[in-house]
Amino acid sequence: MSIWNIDEKKRNIEKLNFNKKVDILIIGAGITGLTTAYFLKNKNICVVDASIIGHGITLNSTAKINYLQENIYNNIINNSSYENATLYLESQIYASKLLKEIVLKERINCDLKEVPSYLFSSNEKDILTLKKEVEFLRNNNIDIKSKKIIFNKNNYDAYYVKDTYIFNPIKYLKFLYKKLNSLNIPIYENTKVLRIQKLKDKYICFGKNFKITANKVIMASQYPYFTFPFMLPIKSYIEKSYMVVSRVKKDKNLTFISLKKPIYSCRFYENKGKIYQISLAKSHNTAYKQNDKKHFEDVKKIFNLKEKDIIMKYSNVDVMTPDSLPYIGEIRKNLYVATGFNTWGMTNGVLSAKIISDNILGYKNKYANLFNPNRITFLNLLKVPAYIFNNLNTILGTKIFKNKIWYPKNVSFINDNGKSLACFEDENGKKHIVYNKCPHLGCSLLFNEEEKTWDCPCHSSRFDIDGKCIKGPTNYDISVNNKPLKNDINIK
Ligand SMILES: Cc1cc2nc3c(=O)[nH]c(=O)nc-3n(C[C@H](O)[C@H](O)[C@H](O)COP(=O)(O)OP(=O)(O)OC[C@H]3O[C@@H](n4cnc5c(N)ncnc54)[C@H](O)[C@@H]3O)c2cc1C
Repeated sequence: MSIWNIDEKKRNIEKLNFNKKVDILIIGAGITGLTTAYFLKNKNICVVDASIIGHGITLNSTAKINYLQENIYNNIINNSSYENATLYLESQIYASKLLKEIVLKERINCDLKEVPSYLFSSNEKDILTLKKEVEFLRNNNIDIKSKKIIFNKNNYDAYYVKDTYIFNPIKYLKFLYKKLNSLNIPIYENTKVLRIQKLKDKYICFGKNFKITANKVIMASQYPYFTFPFMLPIKSYIEKSYMVVSRVKKDKNLTFISLKKPIYSCRFYENKGKIYQISLAKSHNTAYKQNDKKHFEDVKKIFNLKEKDIIMKYSNVDVMTPDSLPYIGEIRKNLYVATGFNTWGMTNGVLSAKIISDNILGYKNKYANLFNPNRITFLNLLKVPAYIFNNLNTILGTKIFKNKIWYPKNVSFINDNGKSLACFEDENGKKHIVYNKCPHLGCSLLFNEEEKTWDCPCHSSRFDIDGKCIKGPTNYDISVNNKPLKNDINIK
């Protein structure tokens, strides 16, 4: 549950349980997958989602459509080049316009609103970097003005632009779902692809009760479940952030975000006469700090929120890349990925949809090269040992220490004849026992006390207290009633 589906009603879900042949299979029905389907609606396509449309990372996004993205342009200049930073800026403005165009053309009621966005430095020592970010934007003809903002009772130097947007991504996706349905495009929910096999020039995608044969496959699943040939675990890391939604009296009609860590971000949302503030903070690499309960408490303190006004708390994760550029495009013939959005997936999801659909439809896209998913840059190579260390550090750290320090008494770890199990005892004394091993790459799990889930610190798979997988990249549950299964790490 998030603020975006607060009004969502139960509906019949169509699940795939027979074999199918299509030209293009889209795996994942978040903002990336459904927008891609929208652009490819005249082709023979099919969309499958392991869960419900929009219920992946998109559900817990703050859903700003924004090109002020922390200090991303400085990062791209430092890690890549000035020209690439300029092209990235252009691509984000292009994607915002594209999204706005779809909403206007289709008259989608998704609470799209133009609001000014502020970028500020919460740290004196970063003022120079903030100025450099602003200088870059001004050199690229962005009308960015200076204005102080008050945050956490302090006055900060800030800069703002006016042409940025906010919306409700679930309302947007629900519209696309209805539209695609009306065009007889098959969309199956609760339909998970477990394995992909290449057979001559076709891809065979296997699920529990189905097999889909496709000429082209688009992995719009945020984190592809397979490791080879793409090797995402050594080309990225996972960042997690904490959001608290509270009722407020006034819609300040703005969004803000800090330039660098600690990230503070905020926006407002009005729905049925009620105004909500979405406050985000405590972003961190999941290989480190994991005390979710404390992080939510910190967000509450930082934003000075009163417990009585709080209606929801949830966390979210995204895939971060070494050069701050997403991975979008073909990784091998007719197999596409769209990931590594560095927490800016409303623009980058739509951009991925356009780049991939242009490629399939035979149109040139000027941004395709910038996001080439097979790019090998010096920086990307340089970061590989760090990411391997990150993975090992997390695997060993969770295996040896299990971060017991902050766990409540009702969480325990059991060694059952060499099998590593984890147990959560609920308020009625019922014990929920699961395998303490993520089927993706074998990392030990951490208990998320606030959301009552077992979370994998390595690549962000999540499971409920009985071991049901609620988020990939893993494809399998960790329930002790089932035989433990391992993800296929290969496209065969
Ligand atoms: C805290 C936070 C705040 C953010 N705020 C913003 C913001 O303000 N603005 C912005 O631009 N971006 C923001 N983002 C980033 C943005 O939310 C994501 O990048 C974006 O939602 C990713 O969309 P997606 O469609 O690629 O992935 P998802 O929404 O995760 O969709 C992927 C879908 O694939 C399905 N799937 C996975 N595996 C399989 C399988 N094996 N078989 C079938 N289906 C499968 C999943 O069920 C899921 O529905 C934020 C991210 C975070 C972490």
